[in-house]
Amino acid sequence: MATTKQTTRTKTVLPAVKSGQKKTVKSTTAKNVRLTNTTWAYAAAPESADHISIKEQYDLFINGKFVKPSSKKYFATVSPSTEKKISEVAEANEKDIDLAVKSAKAAYDTTWGKMPGKERAKYIYRIARLMQERAREFAVIESMDGGKPIRESRDIDIPLACNHFFYYAGWADKLEYAFPNRHPKPLGVAGQIIPWNFPLLMAAWKIAPALATGNTVVLKPAETTPLTALKLAEIIQESGLPDGVVNIVTGFGNVGAAIVNHPLVNKVAFTGSTPVGKYIQKAIAGTNKKATLELGGKAAHIIFDDAPIDQAVEGIVNGIFFNQGHVCCAGSRLFVQENIAELVIKKLKRRMETLLVGDPLDKNTDIGAINSKEQLAKIKHYLNLGQKEGAEMYQSNCALPSKGYFCKPTIFLHTSQSHRIVQEEIFGPVLAIQTFRTIEEVIEKANNIPYGLSAGVWTDKGSKIFNLTSKLRAGVVWANTYNKFDPTSPFGGYKESGFGREGGIHGLMGYVTL
Ligand code: NAD
Repeated sequence: MATTKQTTRTKTVLPAVKSGQKKTVKSTTAKNVRLTNTTWAYAAAPESADHISIKEQYDLFINGKFVKPSSKKYFATVSPSTEKKISEVAEANEKDIDLAVKSAKAAYDTTWGKMPGKERAKYIYRIARLMQERAREFAVIESMDGGKPIRESRDIDIPLACNHFFYYAGWADKLEYAFPNRHPKPLGVAGQIIPWNFPLLMAAWKIAPALATGNTVVLKPAETTPLTALKLAEIIQESGLPDGVVNIVTGFGNVGAAIVNHPLVNKVAFTGSTPVGKYIQKAIAGTNKKATLELGGKAAHIIFDDAPIDQAVEGIVNGIFFNQGHVCCAGSRLFVQENIAELVIKKLKRRMETLLVGDPLDKNTDIGAINSKEQLAKIKHYLNLGQKEGAEMYQSNCALPSKGYFCKPTIFLHTSQSHRIVQEEIFGPVLAIQTFRTIEEVIEKANNIPYGLSAGVWTDKGSKIFNLTSKLRAGVVWANTYNKFDPTSPFGGYKESGFGREGGIHGLMGYVTL
C-alpha cells in the first residue's frame, strides 16, 4: 500500500484549546502532512447542566411505580469523562424480573392488548411529545452518563428517539395497511435488552414498535448507561400509560438472562454483542419465543478513485471517529482504491489532526469519552495487538484530558484480511485500512468477515453503487454518505450481525403474528 513515512517533528505547544487544556503536538507526524498548528483553539463551550435533575438513587420501574429492588442493592453509574459517580441505580434480581414480567402480562391481558389502535396511538404520541419537551435534559444526561459528545446526543440520538415514537404512533391504528389482507395480532410480553452506545435511541427502537402493535414491555438498559431509560420511565409515568405496560429494570447480564428465560416472555428483542446474542439464541431454542437480534458489526467503507475525495474523507471521519467508534455500524474497515490511497490517507491524517477529543458536554468536541474503563482496556488491547500483527499505527497528536477514559483517533496501515484488527469488532475510534484494485477484489474482501451489518461506498457512478449494494452482504449500504438514520428505514444484519429488522414497516413484523 502506498503510504506516507513517519518522520520526527519538533515539539510545539499550542495555545490553550479548551477549559485550560493545553494542546501538545509531539514527536511524530507524517511527512507530507503539513499541519497548520493553529488547530481550532476554540474557547470552551460546555452545555449547561443546571437544568438537569438527577436523583441520587433510582429504583426499578415496575407496574407504573418506582419500587425498591428486592436485593436491596444499588450500583453506581459513573461519568466516563470525569470518573465521578453520577447516581446509583437498583440492582434487580430474578424476583424483581418475575414481578415486572407478571405486571406486563397483566397489563397485556387486561388493558393494552385489548385497547383499540387509535387509543394506543394517543399514548405513544404523548410520550413522544413529552420526550421532545425534555430533549435538552435527555441530551445532557446521555452525554454525562455515556460519554458521547453533546453534539451527537443533542442532534442525533434524542431527536431520532422522539421521531421513533412519533413514527410508530402513526402505525398503531393502521396495522391492517402495514400487512394487507392479514390479521396482525400482538405477541404478548416483549423482553427487551439494550446496549450502552445509543441508550435512549435503542430504548425507543424497542419500546415504540412493541407498543404500537399492542405488546407490553420489560426493558433492561445497559449497566453503564441506565439514566436516560430511567428518565423515560418518569415520562411514561407522566404520560398516564396504563400501569405495567412498560416496565424498566436495571442491573447486569444476569438480569437480561432472567428476562430472556422467563416463561411468560413471548418475544426477546436484543441489541448487543454477538456472543451474548448467541447465548440468547441457545437459551430460547425449543421455546416458542420470537426473537430479533441486532448484534455486532465490522463495516466495510469503500472509496473508489472517482469519489469526491474531500467528502469521502469527511465520511470516513464521521463513520469511525465521531461517537468514539461506539457504533455497531461504524465504518471500521476502510478499503481505498490503490491509485488514490496515498492522497486519501494524507487528507485523512490532516483531518484527524483537527479532531478535538475531550469533554463530552463541550459543543466543540468531536470525540468524547470511551464508555467505560473496561471498554478502554479492550481498545488498548487491540491497539497493541495491531502493532504486534505488523500493522503501522498512526494516532493524531491531540492531547487527552488527564481524567476520564479517552482514546486518540487511530488508523492502522498495512493491514491484511487475516489481521484480528480487521476481523474483530473493536468498538472504538480505530480504523484498519487496506487498498484494492478492482470491484471484484473489494467485494470479496468486504464480505470476507463473520459480520454483515452495514457498509458504505463512495463513487461518482450510480452503476457501481447498484452493483455493490446487490453484492455486499450487509443489511445497510450507504452511498456517498455514512451513518444516516431514519425511523422509516429498516435496519438489521446478515450473518453474525443478527436477524430481524428494526425501523420502518419491517420493525412492526417482529412484534406480531399474522
Ligand atoms: P453486551 O452484549 O455486552 O450487552 C448488551 C446488553 O445485554 C446489556 O444490557 C447487558 O447487560 C445485557 N446482557 C449481558 N449478558 C447477558 C446475558 N447473558 N443475557 C441477557 N442479557 C445480557 O453489549 P454491549 O457491550 O453493551 O454493546 C456493544 C455491542 O452492541 C457491540 O457488539 C455492538 O455492535 C452491538 N450493537 C449492535 C447494534 C445493532 O443494531 N446491530 C446496535 C448497537 C450496538
